[in-house]
Order: sequence, then structure tokens, then C-alpha cells
Amino acid sequence: MPRITPVLVLAVLLLSSAPTALAQQPDIVQEHWYHSYLTLTADVQSWAADHSEIVILTVAGQTELGRNLWVVQISDWSVDAKPDGAQKEIVYIDGGHHGNEHLGTELAFLTAEYYIEGWAAGDQEVIDVLTTTEIHILIMLNADGNDIDTRWNINQVDLNRNYDHYWNTCPVTQPGSDAFSESETHANSIYMNTVVPDADLYVTMHTGVWIML
Ligand SMILES: [Zn+2]
Repeated sequence: MPRITPVLVLAVLLLSSAPTALAQQPDIVQEHWYHSYLTLTADVQSWAADHSEIVILTVAGQTELGRNLWVVQISDWSVDAKPDGAQKEIVYIDGGHHGNEHLGTELAFLTAEYYIEGWAAGDQEVIDVLTTTEIHILIMLNADGNDIDTRWNINQVDLNRNYDHYWNTCPVTQPGSDAFSESETHANSIYMNTVVPDADLYVTMHTGVWIML
């Protein structure tokens, strides 16, 4: 009988574990793990496939390098208004303007996960929210910067200074050649103005400092 070398055994173990790699993702909070664009893409596509009654996955646009700006829309889509007939509340959340602020991105991810998993588990509080509210979450706005762990986008622009509100008034950072010069902020502004123009709440998630504001 031929001897099996340790290298071969290792290779077989790696091969056999590959299909379940995503299911074995490290814990975001306990193991300080964070998403790449590819692992985020796999997760949001799984949500849409597994929970189509509450999850609509859409794309707000692309990054400068052509990565999709995934938006997870979460609500009880079997009803289009509150039980009393009034319009649902609309919440818009974005994360990941700054690619090195991984907690800001993961908090947006965990917010979506909380409502999706809560719905699946029959959590009455979550069900009550989703029957009366639409939650739109663009988890990773700066996917190009996220994957190289940098504050800037691929053009070295600070996306959070690239909006037209007080554009080019911050002397210590790069606002871009003009307001909305970057595809990420341009796409985000179009989503805000066309899909959620009447949002009741907007939250942008960052990790500038180690406190919660
Ligand atoms: Zn930030």
C-alpha cells in the first residue's frame, strides 16, 4: 500500500472542506472578522434566495472598478402598506464609505442580518417592524477601498467628502474633482433621490472613533 504523504492529506482535507467554507465564516464580533466584496456578495445573494418573501436584492450602481453596490431591501413584501392603510415607514442605511472602517460596514451587515434572521425565527418584534417598515441597506459603498483596506476609493477620493453638501470645504481630505465625481457617491445620490426620497430615517455607518454616536 502506498504511503500517503502529509501534503496529500492536507490537500484532500482542503478540497473536502471547500464547499462549506461560507457556512463556516468566522464570527464577526467574536473573531474580529470582516467581509470582502466577494464574501458580502455571496451572503446577500444567499439572503435573497433563502428569504425571498422579505428580501429584495438590488444594485444601486457600480464602484469605479465595476463592483456592484448591493442594496438589501427588507420588508414584509406581501403587504404594501401598514395594517391601518398608511404608508410604511422608510429607513435608509448605508455603510462602508471608508474602506478601512470595517466596523461601520459590518454594523450595516449585522443590522440586515438581525431583521432577516429574526423574521426567520418568528421574532414578533421583528415581524412587527417588517410589516410596517421598509429597510433599505447599502452595506458596502466603497467596495474597492474595502478590499485594499483604505479610507479612499480607487481614485484616492474621500467618498464622504464627495457629496455636494459643503463640497470642497474640508482642507485635510480629498473631495474629488467635483461633487459626485465618483461613481459610488453618484449612485448613492441617485438611489436616495429616486428610491427612498421620502425616507423617514437615514443612518450612515462609520467607524471614525471608538464610540457610538
Ligand atoms: Zn468614515
